[in-house]
Amino acid sequence: MNFPEVILCKYGEVVLKGANRQNFESSLIKELRRRASPYGTFKIYFKQSIVYVEPQDDFCDMDGMYEAAKKVFGFVGVTRAAVCEKNMEDIKRTVREYLPEKLAGKRTFKVDAKRADKRFPLTSPEISAEIGGVILSTVRGIKVNVRSPEVTVTVEIRDEHAYVRAGQEAGAGGLPIRSAGRGLLLLSGGIDSPVAGCMMAKRGMEIEALHFESFPYTSERAREKVMTLAQEMCEFCSRIHVHVISLTHIQEELRDKCDEDYFTILLRIFMMRLAERCAREYKCHALITGESLGQVASQTLSAIEVTDSVVNLPVFRPCIGLDKNEIVIEARKYGTFETSILPFEDCCTVFTPRHPKTQPRIDEVMSQLAKVDLDGLIEEAYATMTTETKLVYPEYR
Ligand code: ATP
Ligand code: MG
Repeated sequence: MNFPEVILCKYGEVVLKGANRQNFESSLIKELRRRASPYGTFKIYFKQSIVYVEPQDDFCDMDGMYEAAKKVFGFVGVTRAAVCEKNMEDIKRTVREYLPEKLAGKRTFKVDAKRADKRFPLTSPEISAEIGGVILSTVRGIKVNVRSPEVTVTVEIRDEHAYVRAGQEAGAGGLPIRSAGRGLLLLSGGIDSPVAGCMMAKRGMEIEALHFESFPYTSERAREKVMTLAQEMCEFCSRIHVHVISLTHIQEELRDKCDEDYFTILLRIFMMRLAERCAREYKCHALITGESLGQVASQTLSAIEVTDSVVNLPVFRPCIGLDKNEIVIEARKYGTFETSILPFEDCCTVFTPRHPKTQPRIDEVMSQLAKVDLDGLIEEAYATMTTETKLVYPEYR
């Protein structure tokens, strides 16, 4: 059975915005329009905190569009609804034909009727009662439970049409992408940093990424893995420019000239400095890392104090209070986990000290740092930077 169907996307926090609300709404619509391009021609507009995505012909891929809508930050709920005429006869016919498949296997339901058009001859309770009766006589074994139904059937009478739907799936939540400025993610091939990037994207940040490699100590395949991760992140982040900088010479200099125990913290200082430079060039106003307090030697409070002190930008660490298993849950949700666990080396694992300093003192670190040419090495490394752009799909611009 073919029904004219629409996708309804319900905003989340955007509703709370005062004067800025219009900007948020237009970011949401723009993003959905960009996301819609591979799935056909849709009319996309909002009314009363809901964005309507209406297919314009029979060639539209509704399944594809629906999955895409669930990955757009800013929506709390996404659902599909059948569209029908604004009369009880057509609404009942739609309920009989459209809902049984959606209610299959469900034990309890309730009907929630909403009347935006108050001229409609029946009141909301009257609509609910009639439609409840239709469902009871069409769907075998289902019962009414008004307090805690397994599924809520919604009948909405709007200006031009009526809409019938069952249940609602969670949207991606958060705020629309690009509504909160741009941040530079330090992206390794691990589990944590892709999650950190997606978490900040969820709060509306546009994500730019920087990866450090150490060729030939790290391989071409390790770099490819990071590119795959960035591509996977685009499912939620839409577009990511990935910059890659070589740390090879810096690491060799540190190995040759500094005490081994300081190696990790010194390397992180270089990373942060290079990241700050990249952030400034690409107009990013924060750095983002996947650090989690105490996870490894470089993530103790004193190590973080040192790395924070060498840059003048806010450093966001959204995973800081999460346990590894909590980060893994997020990584699965964002679809990056399977790639993250592929076994390739990272530049941090090259020349790893046997006893890294976990409580580095800033003066000792600085006297180690004085043994190498900080500015010269930064200049040289920054010149190795190359950039690749990843898009959720080629049509996205
Ligand atoms: P991840 O799982 O994100 O790799 P991790 O637990 O392995 O994190 P570290 O290796 O100490 O932790 O790295 C901490 C953070 O530093 C990472 O989350 C990432 O933001 C950044 N980082 C580490 N290695 C790199 C790299 N090669 N390129 C860019 N950023 C890096
Ligand atoms: Mg790592």
